Amino acid sequence: MDDLELHAHLIGQQGSRSALNTPVLVLDIEKLDRNISSMQAFAAARGVALRPHAKTHKSVDIGKRQIAAGAIGLCCAKIGEAEVLADGGITGLLITSPVSAPGAIERLAALAKRGIGLMAAIDNVEMVDRWQDALAAAGAMLDVVIDVDPGIRRTGVESAEAAVAVAEAIARSASLVYRGVQYYCGAQQHIEDYAARRAAIVDRTDYLRSVIAALAEAGFQPEIVSGSGTGSHHIDLELGLFTELQAGSYVFMDKQYLDCDLADGAAVPFETSLSVDARVVSANHAALVTIDAGFKSLSTDGGAAQVQRGAPVETLFMFMGDEHAALVSPDIGVRLRPGDPVSLTVPHCDPTVNLYDYYHVVRGDTLVEMWPVSARGRAR
Ligand code: PLP
Ligand code: MN
Repeated sequence: MDDLELHAHLIGQQGSRSALNTPVLVLDIEKLDRNISSMQAFAAARGVALRPHAKTHKSVDIGKRQIAAGAIGLCCAKIGEAEVLADGGITGLLITSPVSAPGAIERLAALAKRGIGLMAAIDNVEMVDRWQDALAAAGAMLDVVIDVDPGIRRTGVESAEAAVAVAEAIARSASLVYRGVQYYCGAQQHIEDYAARRAAIVDRTDYLRSVIAALAEAGFQPEIVSGSGTGSHHIDLELGLFTELQAGSYVFMDKQYLDCDLADGAAVPFETSLSVDARVVSANHAALVTIDAGFKSLSTDGGAAQVQRGAPVETLFMFMGDEHAALVSPDIGVRLRPGDPVSLTVPHCDPTVNLYDYYHVVRGDTLVEMWPVSARGRAR
């Protein structure tokens, strides 16, 4: 029996979580659903729509739960993600990174043709022409938002004048329909101190206001202002410029976001629903045990993982290469034995999820479902 068959047999058995072969990506369905409803309620209370980013979860099952809770659709990072979600029956997709490879532009036109309420972000006049050609060839129309660079020089037009130039090019293109702007302040999301993050977002929002004013002046008042993230959602809702939020990580709450004060000192309304469950593989030292999760099981860009259960939360976590990590604390090698389970809070959720084929969905300690990471590896 392979892992998946073995795990499928465990579904519904009381306490089955601890019997899973490790390392394994575990999702607590009750916490997930509470996170989904909290963000939805937050946005709805301020009359703002929610189009959560699916780059975080890459999952048709989670996307459907977000939409059932009131989301107007989902954001995708890449055309490959959008295709998988569309095949899963999800509508209202917004592709937030510019699509630029010739083959990808053709697929964008083909997806637009399917009439699933597709939208895409664009930041360049040349690309307007290339998209126009592909859409005309496919006989499709596409709604677009102009991506505005908040100053990180990742994507987006670099000035109000450039935004107006792209809007004018869109207006000249028979197959593109101008809907508004997109603005994601990536560099500000993880500023840990609330007041410092708020000051940075206020400054960036003033800039966006000036870009929107220039667009309006030129006859391109945006109907959609899409953006924001888990780190800035609270501030962006207060500032009131966005018509829709793109937050993504709130569904899982990884270590990076746990380290941020998201609600100005108030209790964070989101819980950590995601874990990597691992196991002790070697315990031959008093103060150190080795577990079976290393670089291949946890993304390494976000620092150390944090113990969630099985050992004290303050236990030191140290990567030990591809397959292993060490847990270090004075008597851990006495308290934990080979085969003992530990659950970890992942440092950074999005790239970690992309390492797994399945979410092992638990209710309490019982495995209840297995959901594919539907768009795993769809980076193009
Ligand atoms: N929108 C865009 C364009 C993003 O790149 C991201 C994440 O990187 C998000 C939204 C989601 O943000 P977060 O994970 O901070 O909630
Ligand atoms: Mn991320």
